[in-house]
Amino acid sequence: MKHQEFEQRIEKYLKRQFGITITLASKRQVYEALMSTVREKLSEKKFAYEQELKKTKQKRAYYMSMEFLVGRTLRNNLFNLGIEKQTKEYLEKNNFNLDEIYDIEPDPGLGNGGLGRLASCYLDALTSSDYPVTGFSILYEYGIFKQVINNGWQQEFPDYWLDLGKYGLVYRNDEEIEVRFYGHVEEKMTEDGFKVEHKDYTSIQAEPYDLLISGYKTKTVNTLRLWEAKAKTGFNMKLFERGEYSKSSEAEAIASSISKLLYPADSTNEGKELRIKQQYFFISASLQQLVKNHYNEFGTLENLSDHVALHINDTHPAMGVPELMRLLLDEYGYSWDKAWEITTKIFAYTNHTIMAEALEKWSVDLFKPLLPRIYSIIEEINKRFCQLVIDQGKHYTLAETAIIYDNQIRMANLSIVGSHNVNGVSKLHSDILVESTFRAFNELYPTKFGNVTNGIAHRRWLGQANPELASYLKDLIGDDFVKDLSKISKLNDYKNDKKVVAKLQEIKKVKKEQLATYIQNTTGITVNPDSIFDVQVKRLHEYKRQLLNALHIVYLYREIKYNGLRPVPRTFIFAAKASSGYQMAKNIIKFIHSISQMIECDELVRDYIKVVFLPDYKVTLAEKIIPAADISEQISQAGKEASGTGNMKLMLNGALTLGTLDGANVEIHEAVGDENIFIFGLETPEVDELNARGYKPWEYYNNSVKIKETLDFIRTMTVGGMNFNFIVDYLLTQDNYMCLADFESYIAAQEKVAETYQDKEKWGRMSLVNTANAGIFSADRSVEEYAKDIWNIKKVK
Ligand SMILES: *Cc1c(COP(=O)(O)O)cnc(C)c1O
Repeated sequence: MKHQEFEQRIEKYLKRQFGITITLASKRQVYEALMSTVREKLSEKKFAYEQELKKTKQKRAYYMSMEFLVGRTLRNNLFNLGIEKQTKEYLEKNNFNLDEIYDIEPDPGLGNGGLGRLASCYLDALTSSDYPVTGFSILYEYGIFKQVINNGWQQEFPDYWLDLGKYGLVYRNDEEIEVRFYGHVEEKMTEDGFKVEHKDYTSIQAEPYDLLISGYKTKTVNTLRLWEAKAKTGFNMKLFERGEYSKSSEAEAIASSISKLLYPADSTNEGKELRIKQQYFFISASLQQLVKNHYNEFGTLENLSDHVALHINDTHPAMGVPELMRLLLDEYGYSWDKAWEITTKIFAYTNHTIMAEALEKWSVDLFKPLLPRIYSIIEEINKRFCQLVIDQGKHYTLAETAIIYDNQIRMANLSIVGSHNVNGVSKLHSDILVESTFRAFNELYPTKFGNVTNGIAHRRWLGQANPELASYLKDLIGDDFVKDLSKISKLNDYKNDKKVVAKLQEIKKVKKEQLATYIQNTTGITVNPDSIFDVQVKRLHEYKRQLLNALHIVYLYREIKYNGLRPVPRTFIFAAKASSGYQMAKNIIKFIHSISQMIECDELVRDYIKVVFLPDYKVTLAEKIIPAADISEQISQAGKEASGTGNMKLMLNGALTLGTLDGANVEIHEAVGDENIFIFGLETPEVDELNARGYKPWEYYNNSVKIKETLDFIRTMTVGGMNFNFIVDYLLTQDNYMCLADFESYIAAQEKVAETYQDKEKWGRMSLVNTANAGIFSADRSVEEYAKDIWNIKKVK
């Protein structure tokens, strides 16, 4: 589109909608006009792309995920359309600042953390690579809560993002679908054979809203389809008149709750009935839609697997397996064997965690009344699967592999049995899956398991979040890295070029100054942009060990105050949301704030170290913090972080990883070499051994002066009238992630960090090497592997 045309459309929108010219419009009106014009533009492109897809009849992938952590869309779309610069100039001409317009857009926070962000990075990358793909999820009225810190404690506030976020959505009322809950199942023989009927069900209406996904400099536009739940019949007058008040508004009550809010839990299984409803709601709507469209086009479902690849992102969409079986069996009359053959060719599943508390299990008593037909299909899948296992002489695996066991439905097992491919998200994680978590399954299906290491949308995390660095790199090595991140390795040629290293450091300084201003404005804390920016930003969880980081800060405090240590100045930057029901995580946030306060009150210590906790971590905040980081803290207990993607974003922006050999840190280590990373701590087999032997935190306390002094000091701390004995007690009795076992090694690694930072040139070279070797962590690379090895889909241009 010619840029002039784009400008004309904006002005036309303002005139039509508000009867106003751009010179008189408010920022809010300009925002709405921009969002709507971009949406309109993408709709046109989408239409053209759909025509092409219909002609070629090529296979498409559908990425089903409870979460898509989309982040702001406006800048991403302008960037991808290649009109960001012109738009900025056009607005400036009219006295508007584009950055201020961007700031009006709420983050569509339809996800908790890494898992949801990954889904969004993949949609972006797939679209930029011209793969036809649709995302399926829920239109949560309230996304991930807004975090406010009050006296060091987290408070949660609702995130009503639709108010200003709705301008990016396209309502498709032509594609509404009914989803059924409760009731009972009747089986009978008819002239056409065995029939199953679902009776007395409660109907919920699924209404589709599409968020259009743009790709970088391409004609391809894909869709993220978000379903909203509405009561189908609304208020039931008859029942009401008969006095059945509660039943009369049942459907309404269910509907209004289903798409109301995103569960704020991350890495735990939120075992709630509403969660099952949410899962089935969006899966059923998506699959009904897809199957119907396919049948209309081809008149058969026989060839469904030639045209459709369905992806289960973590176990949340696992009900897709029985739902597709239901459609094939009950609605289209296929035999069980045929339906099963089709289904298992279509599904693939990505596992995201090996932590037992995060593996979804549903009690049969809860599940069965809610979804009687789906339950009976799962029962039959389980029966046949178990028989197969017994026939193979592998009955001894059943305690681990059965789908229904101990009156519980195990969703990971259902996903594995129903999929033709199962993958982990980093080399280490995928190895752990076949060697331990799913070992028995690997014995049954040795060819099913594989790995696709996660990746990130580098055009967002470098191109948009750090335009200063991106623009310098374009001048230095050409701009082909924007389309193909592997080309960024050309930067390696400059690692001994002092001028280049100095220039990169200048850019880092600019980003640190920008962040320092933001920190000043949001927390009132003044930080020194020449200090080391030591960053740990991610969901708050015990396994991620923000507490280990905090312990080290207390250790430094004590060393500075009582032992004459005068370290290189450092700013410790945290940002993290804690799941609302997760008390220990909230306590850790409070502890971090208290350390910050204790330091701020100390005239000596505060010249050397600062602790900053930035509230409300989300994509937009990540985009501010990550480009400014010197150190990337990736300190989870080895074997617990499946991959991590924050580590990749930080590496790409030139931060040095301080980490354990966990998740994708292992591959970052391989990519940059020993000398460009700070690795510490126990490795996975050592953690396993220690667990087997029995972790005895007291031994670490008694055998290490540093640990003992640090913990004893914490017992003496009082900040704002609060003491922190419970932190020490936790570390000595309850800590499943063994902070004390890695503490000495962490301190040593941190000392090496401080020492290295003093050699500016060396540090700059290390930072350059990190950016230069981040190419393999592009989501473009990951989605290429999914497309080729798992979905078998081709590009459509
Ligand atoms: C990348 C990202 C994450 C994931 O971070 P990890 O360090 O991999 O856990 C979480 N939240 C947001 C907002 C992100 O951008």
